[in-house]
Amino acid sequence: MKIPHVVIIGAGFGGLTAAKQLAKAQVQITLIDRQNYHLFQPLLYQIAIAGLVPSQIAYPLRTIFRKQKNLTFQMGEVLAIDFEARYVRLYGSVIAYDYLIIAVGGQTNFFGLDTIEQNVFQLKDVQSAINTRNHLLKTFERAGHEADPEKRRAMLTFVVVGGGPTGVETAGALAELISHVMVKDYPDLDLGEVRVLLLEAGSHLITPYPDELRKATYALLSRKRVEILLNTKFANYNGELITLGDGRQIAAQTVIWTAGVKAAGLLYSLGIAQAGAGQARVEPSLQVPQHPEAFVIGDAAYLTDKNGRPLPMLSTVAIQQGESVASNLRRMLTGEQAQAFHYKDPGLLATIGRNAAVERIWGISFSGFIAWVIWVGLHIVRLIGFRNRILVLVNWAWDYIFYENQVRLITRE
Ligand SMILES: Cc1cc2nc3c(=O)[nH]c(=O)nc-3n(C[C@H](O)[C@H](O)[C@H](O)COP(=O)(O)OP(=O)(O)OC[C@H]3O[C@@H](n4cnc5c(N)ncnc54)[C@H](O)[C@@H]3O)c2cc1C
Repeated sequence: MKIPHVVIIGAGFGGLTAAKQLAKAQVQITLIDRQNYHLFQPLLYQIAIAGLVPSQIAYPLRTIFRKQKNLTFQMGEVLAIDFEARYVRLYGSVIAYDYLIIAVGGQTNFFGLDTIEQNVFQLKDVQSAINTRNHLLKTFERAGHEADPEKRRAMLTFVVVGGGPTGVETAGALAELISHVMVKDYPDLDLGEVRVLLLEAGSHLITPYPDELRKATYALLSRKRVEILLNTKFANYNGELITLGDGRQIAAQTVIWTAGVKAAGLLYSLGIAQAGAGQARVEPSLQVPQHPEAFVIGDAAYLTDKNGRPLPMLSTVAIQQGESVASNLRRMLTGEQAQAFHYKDPGLLATIGRNAAVERIWGISFSGFIAWVIWVGLHIVRLIGFRNRILVLVNWAWDYIFYENQVRLITRE
């Protein structure tokens, strides 16, 4: 009897989970990713602020799947999918499938503003985080010998755009890098000249969180000397000057964009109906309409909860969808129907630097030190690879005790 061939595109949180959950199924799996590693994106900002090195949050896929006999990994970028003929196309090759799981994730959304895309820094992959780190460190080197106070202030103005969890985490960590570490490396640095601004178009930070946590976040960031500008629309940036929606301008040489996510490029060529951020509109079982053998999961899929709210683009959603799709595939192999996906919300959490985080778990809101300890523990546990967990823990403990960020290296791009 022919063993069904399952092709999984993307080895992020969703694709990786689905592949592992199918380890004992009677299927042959081909896992395709354009990178040869799984990346723990929630800690990308730690690379940007010189806290961790990439190998501590990225893990080689061939090592992860070394013992999984029913899986072959292929590095490559899928360019197109033929749902009728059931194959995926890569550069110079095609791979046929019986079942397909599309788990290609998202990309930064610049809302069509090309000048912004060209001039800002983003945190989406390892390279973009290293570029951000290099730029931040170079800026301090340059500011150290800039005699013109106006130019120096523009160099020392760091703007984070987007008051969601990633923006809040980045702004908090950046403020601490400057006030705890850079002041020691650059003794002539006048902290009074340094500004970290967090710009948010809406009237709150971390909008999906309960009000008490939004307020706690505001207070914790303000204590770290982050200037928070709410109801502030970012209109343009030419690399030197930010123009706000009301015409005000801010001179800044560093803008980190965390203001939006949209579905990965592949989604735009598939001919599947798309939601506002480009995600595929899938059936409640995550199947592609008219193609029950194909599924879309994670950031690339659009599904609403029982109250009609879109599921957030979060790792927890992608992981649960990876589990759901694997169990539906096993069901389909025995002739049963696929079942609808229901998201079980494990809570929300974001860190705001040393000793400070905000969390909503089991319906209870936490903030401050206890929340931060839980955040550290959960992130350590969720990292792939024993060695990575130990290294990250040691790194963080060292930084915590000695007020250091150890990876302050400017590398060639
Ligand atoms: C900076 C940052 C911070 C975040 N913080 C948090 C957080 O604190 N908590 C949380 O829950 N979530 C967080 N998220 C969101 C979380 O990372 C995503 O929701 C999650 O990664 C989505 O999982 P996924 O499997 O859908 O896609 P991804 O994890 O993005 O994986 C997609 C994979 O597909 C591959 N791929 C894409 N296109 C192709 C193609 N055409 N061919 C081959 N391979 C392809 C990519 O290389 C990638 O490996 C954060 C995201 C970012 C960027």
